[in-house]
Amino acid sequence: MSAPPASEALDVLHRVFGYAAFRGPQAEVVEHVVAGGDALVLMPTGGGKSLCYQVPALVRPGTGVVISPLIALMQDQVDALHTLGVRAGFLNSTQNPEERRDTERALLAGELDLLYLAPERLRLGTTVNLLERMDIALFAIDEAHCVAQWGHDFRPDYLMLSELHQRWPAVPRIALTATATEHTRTEIAERLDLTAAKHVVASFDRPNIQYRIVPKAEPRKQLLELLRTEHPGDSGIVYCLSRKSVEQTAEFLAAQGIPALPYHAGLDAAVRREHQSRFLREEGLVMCATIAFGMGIDKPDVRFVAHLDLPKSVEGYYQETGRAGRDGLPSTAWLAYGLGDVVQQRKMIDDSEGDEAHRRRLGQHLDAMLALCETVECRRVQLLAYFGQQGEACGNCDTCLTPAESWDGTVPAQKLLSTVWRLKKERNQSFGTVQSVDILLGKRTPKVEQSRHHELSTFGIGTELSEQEWRGVARQLLARGLLEVGGPYNTLQLTEGSQAVLKGDRQVMLRKDPERVRTRRSSRSAAPPADLPAGAAPVFERLRAWRAATAKEQGVPAYVIFHDATLRAIAALAPTSLPALGTVSGVGENKLAKYGQGVLAAVGGAAAAAPAVPAVPAGPVEDDWPVEEPPEEDYPDDDPWGA
Ligand code: ADP
Ligand code: ZN
Repeated sequence: MSAPPASEALDVLHRVFGYAAFRGPQAEVVEHVVAGGDALVLMPTGGGKSLCYQVPALVRPGTGVVISPLIALMQDQVDALHTLGVRAGFLNSTQNPEERRDTERALLAGELDLLYLAPERLRLGTTVNLLERMDIALFAIDEAHCVAQWGHDFRPDYLMLSELHQRWPAVPRIALTATATEHTRTEIAERLDLTAAKHVVASFDRPNIQYRIVPKAEPRKQLLELLRTEHPGDSGIVYCLSRKSVEQTAEFLAAQGIPALPYHAGLDAAVRREHQSRFLREEGLVMCATIAFGMGIDKPDVRFVAHLDLPKSVEGYYQETGRAGRDGLPSTAWLAYGLGDVVQQRKMIDDSEGDEAHRRRLGQHLDAMLALCETVECRRVQLLAYFGQQGEACGNCDTCLTPAESWDGTVPAQKLLSTVWRLKKERNQSFGTVQSVDILLGKRTPKVEQSRHHELSTFGIGTELSEQEWRGVARQLLARGLLEVGGPYNTLQLTEGSQAVLKGDRQVMLRKDPERVRTRRSSRSAAPPADLPAGAAPVFERLRAWRAATAKEQGVPAYVIFHDATLRAIAALAPTSLPALGTVSGVGENKLAKYGQGVLAAVGGAAAAAPAVPAVPAGPVEDDWPVEEPPEEDYPDDDPWGA
């Protein structure tokens, strides 16, 4: 902790939020905004952005006005603040006139500490009029990257945001985002007239997230193993590229006894809302989704984020994986990646609309993502480097835990490229990876015999590698642009880079794919979480049962009552009095008064036994995902992070 911030802010942090100390640069930001300064805050997802404006809003006189595009989440945000005893309200299009009037009345009576406002409200004369009649503590602009990324849709609303400054020059403004590249940051600052503001960039490291990227073999089976062995009963998100695979994956998991729901832009709005709400409220639900899901979902106990398809950019990947472990507890970011992903993504770029410059940008994003996948270095170091930050080998990613080896793959690369070249030169043909690998392995398949490919000079010259290893070689050559796919059937083609390899002018170092990815944690249902002392596990389960019942009764997500981390700390301490309970991080004044007795009773053994995690039947897993299938005729949802 640096110098202590204004004591009033610290007092609010203790009393209202029940937290012992500010985290990272929060203290600095809070102090600056409390004093009336403008700020632009970049923090990773889960970094603790909300407190940066909530605390100053409570300390400064008047109401803090939070402009947020996440209308669907406002009710939950306001509910969460209410359980803390913070007087909060919102104004958006989901309300009826009466509800709006109530909020406006409370505002003008000075009864609200925080007001959440959808950006389009700012364009209404009535809103401006309302703001003019009230006492404003600050303006917070949440998800500020929307100004840059979705310029088209939000532009008129967000343009209003820079006018706020002209109308209310004395009111501090704080813009917050988790999108971190230098470029985006500059754009936000310019558009919001915040170039002169204090810029605070937090570390983008999320140490509690374990990053793992595994070779894709049978993705659903691999996913199932991950969920069964490491995350039984946990909440998590599984990202898929297409709507169809979202649906199929959700059905597959459900059939395996794992509660799962689909979410994508093709579903009815009402269905989407219901699924989102269930994900927030129920424990242990898995959301299978396209990237349309997740912005602003601040569920703290998402224990894993799995990707079954390659994300299009590192930025998107980091946003998505960042949704895991906001509560700071160990979480997993897991990605299965294979040859088919490279083929599919390259093709999608080729087919994409937009000019050459646009395609080049997409290609650069993809290359950075591929480099992350193929690295033999610490994943976290690479990720942080992408955001312009430095790190050291982290000890909590797959390459740190099981160092990946690199090997000189020049000769195999030449053999594969030469096969592609001969097919073209000698036969004027081009084929996919399967055929080329069959040729190298000397397999007399019907297709080989029929095309007389056994007569090629490269036939059978590659038996030193297994089929899987050859696919690894092809994938890495594709990833580096030393080979490409093209033509009407997505066949292998040589590139400019291929020539240098074929001529022996270029060495090709490759990553050795691990044999079989070994999972590290044993089943959690068998043993209590590591940070709980012996004997505390039953207390924790009783507390969870109490929390589930309380949340249901109040119609709020369980984490709004207390986070897992807080429940764990309570179980470990096993307090027998309210003052003792009040010392636990996450237990503020209001929650102590509201829930204290219930918690003490549960600690003392009063609550009903918690339901056990349902056992999932082990059974054969069908695998119907050939890696090399051409991309489905299906709609990948729009990428809000894409270039
Ligand atoms: P962001 O909006 O940056 O994604 P949040 O504001 O939702 O992150 O905070 C992430 C989690 O960390 C929340 O559950 C929040 O309660 C918790 N948190 C934030 N600041 C602190 C702090 N100083 N001490 C303890 N927990 C904190
Ligand atoms: Zn590492």
